[in-house]
Amino acid sequence: MTMIADNLHQVRARLEAACKAAGGDPDMVTLLAVSKTFPAEAVREALAAGQLAFGENYVQEGVDKIEALSDVRAQLQWHCIGPLQSNKTRVVAEHFDWVHSIDRLKIAERLSAQRPAHLPPLQVCLQVNVDGGANKSGVAAADALALAQAVVALPRLRLRGLMAIPEPVDGFDAQRALFLQAREVYEQLREAGIALDTLSLGMSADLEAAVAAGSTMVRVGTAIFGGRPRPA
Ligand SMILES: *Cc1c(COP(=O)(O)O)cnc(C)c1O
Repeated sequence: MTMIADNLHQVRARLEAACKAAGGDPDMVTLLAVSKTFPAEAVREALAAGQLAFGENYVQEGVDKIEALSDVRAQLQWHCIGPLQSNKTRVVAEHFDWVHSIDRLKIAERLSAQRPAHLPPLQVCLQVNVDGGANKSGVAAADALALAQAVVALPRLRLRGLMAIPEPVDGFDAQRALFLQAREVYEQLREAGIALDTLSLGMSADLEAAVAAGSTMVRVGTAIFGGRPRPA
């Protein structure tokens, strides 16, 4: 078994245990493999081990990788999970299947207008800033409903849910408490009649706490591909 295959095996076992601990089905949480900073060959190794969904932070790096893997494009699902600037929306709309990091209407409007007609609607999540402070990416919880209502009206996007990246904290209970704030916003939107099925929460260090708080998709990089050569 390659290192990546072995790591994937271990992450899947962690996820399965977390789902069981949360009283759910072992497959209720989707594993997104975050391949940022790793080469296309690492993605191929993960694919060979059965991994189909991949996340990228940096738009150009992601597009280069998607193109290098064009022979297996139909099997793969590519998620853009990094902060998005206006001048990058076209290339994202043209290449990715999902975007997790919508934090303002202008970005959503551009993605909708630029999504090519021959592709299915872009699947999107709003990034919510649940803990304010240092990590300023994301829409404030109080503004999430209004943004969701506006995004739902855009023709070439399909709003699937919310993503959050709380500041790292130590300990399961503290981690879960932050994730539960995102879960609360998610439930508020659903109660307001917005159909959502995706709560993108949890990374290598805190996926158990995220699943305990109701995550439906964890974004795992280091635990699958190893340590990154540069901080990201
Ligand atoms: C890098 C990154 C991840 C993965 O983080 P790990 O700690 O390596 O698992 C998940 N989500 C986002 C938004 C990231 O930037």
